[in-house]
Amino acid sequence: MQIKNGHRTLFWSDHWLPEGRLIGIAGDSGPQRLGIGRYAKVADVANASGWQFRNRRDQMLRQIITSVTRVTAPVDGDEEDGAMEIRPHREKQDWSKVVWLAQGVPRFAFITWLAIRDRLATGVRMRQWGVVQGCVFCGEPNESRDHLFFACPYTFTVWLAVVGDLLGVSADPDWEMTLSRLERNDMRHTGKLKLVGQLIALIEKTVKNRIMSTRYFEKPKLLGLMQRWFRGH
Ligand SMILES: [Zn+2]
Repeated sequence: MQIKNGHRTLFWSDHWLPEGRLIGIAGDSGPQRLGIGRYAKVADVANASGWQFRNRRDQMLRQIITSVTRVTAPVDGDEEDGAMEIRPHREKQDWSKVVWLAQGVPRFAFITWLAIRDRLATGVRMRQWGVVQGCVFCGEPNESRDHLFFACPYTFTVWLAVVGDLLGVSADPDWEMTLSRLERNDMRHTGKLKLVGQLIALIEKTVKNRIMSTRYFEKPKLLGLMQRWFRGH
């Protein structure tokens, strides 16, 4: 994407860099940390001598600055940025119904959405900010989205126990395969939310049974586990 005079492109929210929207990379604290207003235009971050950044110390921000400075700074007096180019119309995704269910729990929907966009703070994504984090379940050093859902032997075992044959076929450890099955299932049951409702009920039952079977009330360390579970749901 080409930035011309930079007056019509939002620095944080528009998708003007190949890395994606900067607000998605930096998070909500990005504008404050970098000292660039949330609704600043790309043109506001440069002057005649090029890109202008005040804070260059933060490691994550440096990653953003490097990405930005790979692009030629906007030139005042150049023509307007093409707004159509910068905010392309996005087709409604097949998976939107999988995520945004009327009866869904908002925080689950949000996590599912992050997983589908591969925006979860996994070890692989955190590495670019200098954080080293392997899979806490199995020790795999490359903790990626696809590892967690569901190549990881630990989470896949849990997934198998929870999902059973609800998807109509045996569960597959492949992320893409699982997502496309969920989409197909959603299409078959449009409006009925059968799978998700069943799944949530099953998870709740499984967790309750598991808590009961640990005889939590006899172990001081686990005291209050049931109350916590009920309070959270
Ligand atoms: Zn693992």
